[in-house]
Amino acid sequence: MQILEKAPAKINLSLDVLHKRSDGFHEVEMVMTTVDLADRIELTPRPSEISVESESRFVPNDERNLAYRAAKLMKDRFGVEKGVKIFIEKNIPVAAGLAGGSSDAAAVLRGVNRMWELGLGMDELARLGAEIGSDVSFCVYGGTALATGRGEKIQSMQAPPPCWVVLSKPTIGVSTQSIYQNLDLDGAEHPNTTAMVEALKNGDYEGICANVGNTLEGVTLALHEEVGQIKTQMKQAGADAVLMSGSGPTVFSLVEQDARAQRIYNSLKGFCTEVYMVRMLGYRENT
Ligand code: ATP
Repeated sequence: MQILEKAPAKINLSLDVLHKRSDGFHEVEMVMTTVDLADRIELTPRPSEISVESESRFVPNDERNLAYRAAKLMKDRFGVEKGVKIFIEKNIPVAAGLAGGSSDAAAVLRGVNRMWELGLGMDELARLGAEIGSDVSFCVYGGTALATGRGEKIQSMQAPPPCWVVLSKPTIGVSTQSIYQNLDLDGAEHPNTTAMVEALKNGDYEGICANVGNTLEGVTLALHEEVGQIKTQMKQAGADAVLMSGSGPTVFSLVEQDARAQRIYNSLKGFCTEVYMVRMLGYRENT
């Protein structure tokens, strides 16, 4: 039986980098939430092999694919003899700061758990996800959460009040590793995570908008002027809040009013090829 899983993109409402740890990872505090822009993952049973396929030329169709690695991890860890063919309908921009690869991997963890009847709970899948990448644990649950540690410690949070999210990605890919390498923690700006968490708890849309912040934004802005241009354009078009997601280069706007969201989308459409106007999801679709 074929299994379908939705793999939604995430945005960072806030992202703070606290310090570099002795194991080489950075200690972070991130408030993340899912948006209604998703890859579609199709899993088809196979006798023993794992294969992965997508029509996107930016995504590897081999063992480098995070979705492949998720299936391989489950097969090896639980001694599963069966295989799976993974097809990824790629809708999330790649290397964009939207955790597309991590969300695909999380969807495969959930999907093969069902397909191979492994009976694992979400917490167990999230722990396994952390072995693949720091954002995979959050993506296993989706919804809205505070992520700490290197991003793998997840505390579920209340969804933000509904609003539009306009996403715009310039035609550059950004490697997360290179952004961290260029980060000077002393000179960087740090968002107020506590205030963001409070605003979410209170369902306070203005408070959320006032406290968006991303320590990595300054690094990416200095390297890619397109990111700053998109930010300016979105602010001028009347966004309630504007921030770069993850290590970028995607910039998002939060907007309550329909007409204003449409105006921001239209103004960016002529400027960037990848522009999306989607709803905030924010709640868990997987239990
Ligand atoms: P994050 O926000 O977690 O840093 P990202 O959105 O910046 O992630 P991805 O789209 O996940 O980045 O892609 C990062 C790299 O991972 C790409 O260069 C791509 O080649 C590789 N990759 C491996 N598997 C996938 C996948 N299933 N989808 C997208 N990219 C993948």
